[in-house]
Amino acid sequence: MEKTDPEFVGDGDSCPFCNYFNTPMALDTCEHFYGFVWDGQFDASRKLTNLEDLWKNSIEYIEDKNIHKSLISNKSLNDFEKKITRYTNSDSLFTDLLTNALDANSGEGWSTDGMLSGSGYNVYIAEAQKIDKAESFLKDLLNQKLVGKFNG
Ligand SMILES: [Zn+2]
Repeated sequence: MEKTDPEFVGDGDSCPFCNYFNTPMALDTCEHFYGFVWDGQFDASRKLTNLEDLWKNSIEYIEDKNIHKSLISNKSLNDFEKKITRYTNSDSLFTDLLTNALDANSGEGWSTDGMLSGSGYNVYIAEAQKIDKAESFLKDLLNQKLVGKFNG
């Protein structure tokens, strides 16, 4: 997948927030780009590596402690934290978390022909601070700083 490969030049879609045309295969992306879904598989940007690790560990932790139900209905969590929690179980996809809790938007998508044909779309998030907030919430959860909230 060379940058100059005519198959890939121009493959991408526009950011719904700044309108920049993002071409992930050419590593030409705007600040709102957080990865792309291709043939159903999410290829997350490195900007999401921390969050994805924390999220996976949190799923294990929540299942291990069997606290998913009590967390979701816990009144001391704010709406944002509840949304994060709702998509932190083994039935959730990482893209569910991004879309529903971090307000990620999809681009209009594109498709390719030939040997490597397929279709997909880019994933964009407007507010990077939501990722920071989600990370610190999951960190607190894993550090059991929220342990008092589980019982509340
Ligand atoms: Zn953008």
